[in-house]
Amino acid sequence: MITNSRRVKDYKQLDRELPTLRHVDPDYIYINLQNARAKEYTLDVEVGDHVKLGEILGRRKGKFFEQPIYSTVSGVIEGRTNKYHSSGDEVECLIVRNDFKDTYHESITDRPDSVIEQFTQEDFVEIIKEKGLVGLGGSGFPSYIKLNTDKDIHTVVINAVECEPYLSSDYRLIKDQPEDIFRGLTYLMRAVDATRGVIAVKKTKKELVEVLEREISRFSDWNIQIATLDDFYPQGWENMTFENAVGIKVPVGTLPMEYGILGFNVSTTASVYEAVKHNLPIIKRHLTVNGDAVNFPQDIRARVGTSVRELIELSDGYTDEEKVEVIVGGPMMGESIESDDIVVTQTTTSILVLKSVDYVEEPCVRCASCVYACPVDIQPVQIMNAVKREDKESARALEADKCIECGLCAYVCTSKIHVTDYVREAMKMLR
Ligand code: SF4
Ligand code: SF4
Repeated sequence: MITNSRRVKDYKQLDRELPTLRHVDPDYIYINLQNARAKEYTLDVEVGDHVKLGEILGRRKGKFFEQPIYSTVSGVIEGRTNKYHSSGDEVECLIVRNDFKDTYHESITDRPDSVIEQFTQEDFVEIIKEKGLVGLGGSGFPSYIKLNTDKDIHTVVINAVECEPYLSSDYRLIKDQPEDIFRGLTYLMRAVDATRGVIAVKKTKKELVEVLEREISRFSDWNIQIATLDDFYPQGWENMTFENAVGIKVPVGTLPMEYGILGFNVSTTASVYEAVKHNLPIIKRHLTVNGDAVNFPQDIRARVGTSVRELIELSDGYTDEEKVEVIVGGPMMGESIESDDIVVTQTTTSILVLKSVDYVEEPCVRCASCVYACPVDIQPVQIMNAVKREDKESARALEADKCIECGLCAYVCTSKIHVTDYVREAMKMLR
């Protein structure tokens, strides 16, 4: 449930460059066997089996796709347990005891550039599918489905905007791995035969623009540009990024590929490089531990499967353990989780630990602030009223399904109403 966006007013003090910790060696990792899109799974391993880093442990099964499940350490399968996932759901996890040897599975080998240069779209799609890559900006949508388009794509847009307050995992990735991002972009362009690549970044992040402009000179054979965008929320919403980075307006409800564009998050793009070049699934990711109720906010590079409790301990723990709210994701779009017994998954961009504040909702004063704020031009207050009346037809007529869950209607609400939660409820009704 989104209940956090009201806290964004306090973020300025915490929206700064954070120290970075590389925590890649937990004693145990907890690999989620389920996620929000895939509830079923099959396992290829048993308790007591020794597994290698990058070995397939089983497969998650969604409605229209399957995802291999990879081990992110070498070690021994100890059993199963339940933990929370970034979606807020409790999921089953496989416990792997780390042997600290990092023995790679035999399949993890580099591909020569000369081989990659011959790859077809089918080859790229197959690798990305088999490595289980998903949108790492938080969407979790399987990347191979997007790449497997038969439309004419002229431009690949890399979204490095990271517009939610507090978050700096993409920021850290760009600083640390700019080459991986450019190489990943060239693979994506090659896959769909795109003639242009654009990396969209906030113009206020001058140090990132400098890093990217330095790196671009090494890719002069490619038509790649850096688009510097204004710093506001929700600039990172894909449709807004496209409009401001390449001047193409994609109407809500239509697919960017219909307009010749494909968009990928910047972390996803780096993971495409690792998958194609090194045949690696997502083993580690950058995430931000931040907020006013954690003693030492920092960016952390952690293995997928690491316990969030462990990361909070490594951040010197809570300032006041009685009154904290743990949110996975940003304050606008993230999920409040009822426990901190959470695991890092491929899509965990951040862990926010905020002092818990009880907001008392007041009656709607019909100020229309939520209507003016809505980036997709729907009427949150009317949708809320339709939900209260359980009026599905009105919710449909009000186009509640266009909502992108940006949280702005709750953020601006004069009466502190969690308007976004009502709009989400309307979307559930319509499904
Ligand atoms: S209705 Fe949806 S898209 Fe509109 S402001 Fe609210 S959360 Fe954002
Ligand atoms: S912003 Fe809040 S108070 Fe104003 S119209 Fe929307 S729901 Fe009502």
